[in-house]
Amino acid sequence: MSDDNVLVENPFHTARLKPLRKGKKGPQLLAVVHQSGCTGCEICIAGCPVDSIELVPGPDSTNPGFKQTVEIDLARCIGCQNCSQDCPWETIMMYKHDDAFKIWGHETFKSELYVSPNTVDKLTEEHGIKFDPPQTEEENTESNDTKDSEESAS
Ligand code: SF4
Ligand code: SF4
Repeated sequence: MSDDNVLVENPFHTARLKPLRKGKKGPQLLAVVHQSGCTGCEICIAGCPVDSIELVPGPDSTNPGFKQTVEIDLARCIGCQNCSQDCPWETIMMYKHDDAFKIWGHETFKSELYVSPNTVDKLTEEHGIKFDPPQTEEENTESNDTKDSEESAS
């Protein structure tokens, strides 16, 4: 399996700043967008009580609204069914909690919430974040010694 077939949570998506669903047990039903039928009209977004429907921009970064679609953050959906009732194109369906994750995989052709590990690496670079390897005890002592000698010299 290529790396691109594995998806991981995108840590840079703004949805990560939104509050998580409360309660340990997930809802009985979750909503999944069948993106092939989505026109990106955004009607479903307005009716979601927990703001868990995210826009997915179209392929042209200079005109992201063209051919945009939406996706639902399954980690935050409370299964209220508003979106599936509101969608004029009947392209959001409700599924049993566990089935929803499998169907999401078949019906999602573009996601910003879940991306390949390569994309996370690229985004990490773009955001200028460097993850330093943890220091050994020896390295720690050395850097403390350097700090001490710098302080006593000043
Ligand atoms: S089912 Fe309700 S909570 Fe879930 S995405 Fe649709 S509107 Fe939002
Ligand atoms: S209402 Fe339906 S067609 Fe419109 S953006 Fe939502 S899922 Fe897509």
